[in-house]
Amino acid sequence: MMHDTTDVFVIGGGPAGLAAALAARQRGLQVTVADSCTPPIDKPCGEGLMPDSVAALRRLGVNLPMHEAYRFRGIRFLGGALSSEAEFPEAFGIGLRRTILHRVMVEHAERAGVQMMWNAVVTGLNDRGVLVRNQLFPARWIVAADGGSSQTRRWAGLELHRKKDQRYTFRQHYKIAPWSDFVELHWGPNCQIYITPIAVNRVCVALISRNSALRLEDALPYFPAIAERLRGVDVASVERGAVSVTRKLARVCTDRVALIGDASGGVDAITGEGLCLAFQHATRLAECLASGSLARYPEAHRSVALRPAMMARMLLLLENRETLRQRVLRTFVKDPRVFTRLLATHVGEGSHLDFAASGLALGWKLLTV
Ligand SMILES: Cc1cc2nc3c(=O)[nH]c(=O)nc-3n(C[C@H](O)[C@H](O)[C@H](O)COP(=O)(O)OP(=O)(O)OC[C@H]3O[C@@H](n4cnc5c(N)ncnc54)[C@H](O)[C@@H]3O)c2cc1C
Repeated sequence: MMHDTTDVFVIGGGPAGLAAALAARQRGLQVTVADSCTPPIDKPCGEGLMPDSVAALRRLGVNLPMHEAYRFRGIRFLGGALSSEAEFPEAFGIGLRRTILHRVMVEHAERAGVQMMWNAVVTGLNDRGVLVRNQLFPARWIVAADGGSSQTRRWAGLELHRKKDQRYTFRQHYKIAPWSDFVELHWGPNCQIYITPIAVNRVCVALISRNSALRLEDALPYFPAIAERLRGVDVASVERGAVSVTRKLARVCTDRVALIGDASGGVDAITGEGLCLAFQHATRLAECLASGSLARYPEAHRSVALRPAMMARMLLLLENRETLRQRVLRTFVKDPRVFTRLLATHVGEGSHLDFAASGLALGWKLLTV
C-alpha cells in the first residue's frame, strides 16, 4: 500500500526524534514520526536537564510539569574527603523521570500536529522514502533519530567515524527525598556515580565505568557516603544498563537523510548534555530543512557539539588519574570561582573563548595549588 508523501519522516520517537519533529512543525513542515516502541518510552539516563537543555526545550514550545520534577541549582563534585560545588549562573536545572519527559514531549508533538506511528519498526530506506515493515512511506526528508546503534545511519552510508569511545552505565531509582539540590558527581576508582534529584521522593543514581560487569551493588563499597545514604532505602525501578558511546562521525547527513541525537554521535553521559545537544540540533536541522537544503547542517551540528565534546574530554582526563583529580578538586575547594566559571561555560553562558579561558585558569591554578 502506498501512503501520502510527507515533508519529513523521523525514524525514532525518543527525545531527539520528537525534538526534531517539533522544530520542523515550527517551520510549517508536515512531519511523521515512527518508533518501534509504545510510549512512554523509558531509557537508562541520568535524567538531569541542564539549564541550557531546559531553555532549548522551551524554544521548542515544551513546558515541563514542575510538580512532577525537581529543580537543582548546580553541580557538586565529590572525591575522597573533598567536595566542591558550583551554582548555575542564572537559571536552574531540572531532574525529571525519563518516562515523564517522553510523555510530555509526545503530548506537545501531537498538539503541534505531528503524525505519530507507534509500534512501527522501520526496516529500510529507498530513494522515495522510508519502509515501515516493508510498506513505503514517501518522504522528502528523512531524519534518523534511532539512537546510538542507529540502523538508518548504516542504510544511509554514514557509519564511517573518526573517533569512538564507549563506557558502560547502570542506573537505578531510589525512594528517598533528595538530600541536596545539586546533581552530585562522585569520583571513585575507575568509576563515577552521579545522583540526580528527580522528584520530592526520588533520586536517580547512575554508575559509569569501563567495566561492563561492574554493577551498582559492586561499586557502592567504593562510595561509602552514598552507600550510607541508600542503606535500607527501597528501590523504585529495576537496575538497567546502557552503553554510553562517544562517536565522532565523518558525516552527519547525505543530501536528504540527516542524523540527530545519539544516532549522530553523542557525548559521554558524564557531561549530562546528551539531551541538550539533541534539542539544539533539532532547531538547527529544521532551519536547514525549511531552507530546502542540508548543506549547512554539518557545520551547525559541529558547532553545537563543540563545547560538550571539550567538556567531556576534560572530565575524562580525570577518569583514571587520582592525583590530578585530587588537585582539581583542591583547586575548586580553594577557589570555587574557577568551578563556577567552568560550569557557566559548560551550560552555554559565554563563548568558546570563555571556555578556553576557564580551562586555562584551571590549568594555571593546578600548577600553583
Ligand atoms: C546512563 C546515562 C546517563 C545519561 N544522563 C544524561 C543526563 O543526565 N542528561 C542528558 O541530557 N543526557 C544524558 N544521557 C544521554 C541521553 O540519555 C541521550 O543522549 C538521549 O537518550 C538520546 O536520545 P535519542 O532520542 O537520540 O535516542 P533514544 O532515546 O535511544 O531513542 C531512539 C529511539 O529510536 C527507536 N528506534 C530505534 N530503531 C528503530 C527502528 N528501526 N524503527 C523505529 N524506531 C526505532 C527506539 O525505539 C528509541 O525510542 C545519559 C545517557 C546514559 C546512557
